[in-house]
Amino acid sequence: MRLWDGIVRLFPRGVGAKAARLPLRLYNTLSQELEEFTLPSVASSVRMYNCGPTVYDTSHIGNLRSYIFADTLRRVLEYNGFSVKQVINITDFGHLSSDADRGEDKMTKALKKRRWSLTLANMRKLADEYTQQFIEDLNTLNVETDKIQFPRASDHIAGEIALIKTLEEKSYTYAGADGLYFDTSRFPTYGALGNIDIEGLRAGARVVAAADKRLPTDFLLWKSDAKLGWESPWGRGFPGWHIECSAMINATLGKQIDIHTGGIDLLPTHHNNEIAQSESATGKRPFSRFWMHHEFLNLSGEKISKSLGNTINLETLKKKGFHPLSLRYMYLAAHYRTALTFTWEALEAAQTAYLRLVALRLRLETEVIAAPKDWQRAFHERINDDLDTPLALAHLWEGIAAGEPADSLAMLNEADRVFGLHLMQPDEQARSLAAAAVRAYVALSDISAETVEILEKREQARRRKDWTESDARRDELAVLGYGVDDTSDGQKLYKK
Ligand code: AMP
Ligand code: ZN
Repeated sequence: MRLWDGIVRLFPRGVGAKAARLPLRLYNTLSQELEEFTLPSVASSVRMYNCGPTVYDTSHIGNLRSYIFADTLRRVLEYNGFSVKQVINITDFGHLSSDADRGEDKMTKALKKRRWSLTLANMRKLADEYTQQFIEDLNTLNVETDKIQFPRASDHIAGEIALIKTLEEKSYTYAGADGLYFDTSRFPTYGALGNIDIEGLRAGARVVAAADKRLPTDFLLWKSDAKLGWESPWGRGFPGWHIECSAMINATLGKQIDIHTGGIDLLPTHHNNEIAQSESATGKRPFSRFWMHHEFLNLSGEKISKSLGNTINLETLKKKGFHPLSLRYMYLAAHYRTALTFTWEALEAAQTAYLRLVALRLRLETEVIAAPKDWQRAFHERINDDLDTPLALAHLWEGIAAGEPADSLAMLNEADRVFGLHLMQPDEQARSLAAAAVRAYVALSDISAETVEILEKREQARRRKDWTESDARRDELAVLGYGVDDTSDGQKLYKK
């Protein structure tokens, strides 16, 4: 036994050095109950896998909810003293436009849209572009990407083929015209995750299922493709989307993991397929001890989706002048298992609240001390209650409303370990937006006719998009002692 193992037993796992022992309860889709999360005593860290993006387009803000949730979960685990090995995969081929194995590969479709020839090199180039953009978006949202591994499906072809071979050797597969299928009739507990009505699904889907499938729930392990893909024992083609996740988990985290996450859309098919393949291949169950699913972000009653073409991405938000972390605040203000409807007003409200926290932090110049014990314990209880971030945020607001300056700063510092809103070191944009948000504007009636005239000229210049003149007028105002903000209600003056 290593010395470290002894220490671990003396100080039970999951207990931070300072924090008192509090159970961490997470809603597990597998049991459909809140369960206490602990690690088996032999394990050194939590193995967590988050289903990643299909990189055929820019991620929209709905997709980003998935990774803000995963990042918050990792922060909560770390807050509880766990160390975490986190993996988010990059699906760079194999995801067909319908989860029922119909339609075209999404990446192939995107190549055609760009009129790029169908080669693996072009596929890689397309994937590189969106993968880089995705990781930049995560960084912008303060997701700690340096703590995450991002395996790419196309870098794991050998592992994917090996896994399919194992399934074939164990008689879990059959060949069809489109490729090689997983035979779900050989996996009696198929659909157990989320208690899916498999009989109903099988009966209802009979008409629309691919002609060569024995059961509508069967799914492609290897998709034949004469033009694009890799050589395999089943001919040229590529692995299915589901097997990619199972193989990348094997390669990065092992045969069994502790937590697997994704949006609720992935639950019925993709995640049940992952379980069926992995448990059949390895003979070990459960494949993942905890399954956690977050709800959707909807737009005017519909889900936001790349394929519906109603996307809003981080760039759209930035162009409208929003601070990207306002989006993070908006997600934290709702429970991850609650569906959210996106409106610009809701984002505006989240930004206002976020900037108030930033403004408060900028006023607090005191040294950072430890947060009051009672307050901290209640905060810890809230986040440990299945990541109740809305209540934890409310608790922060209550604390700072009543607290002494030093305590308020300590609370911001403590809470931000979980919230990840850069509250202690807000960036330039947050600082200037926060300063503007609490600025006392000068009423028009209180300024001279000369100043009003400059303002009007600036307004006209801005309408003409004459930024040079607009800046020159700003300088004139500065000489008169005024700063100007361009708000949704027009120009506002403040005393410098
Ligand atoms: P995809 O890139 O489509 O494979 O999806 C990546 C992740 O985003 C998955 O976990 C999906 O469940 C999730 N997702 C997709 N659309 C939404 C949405 N509108 N709201 C929240 N999550 C979503
Ligand atoms: Zn997956």
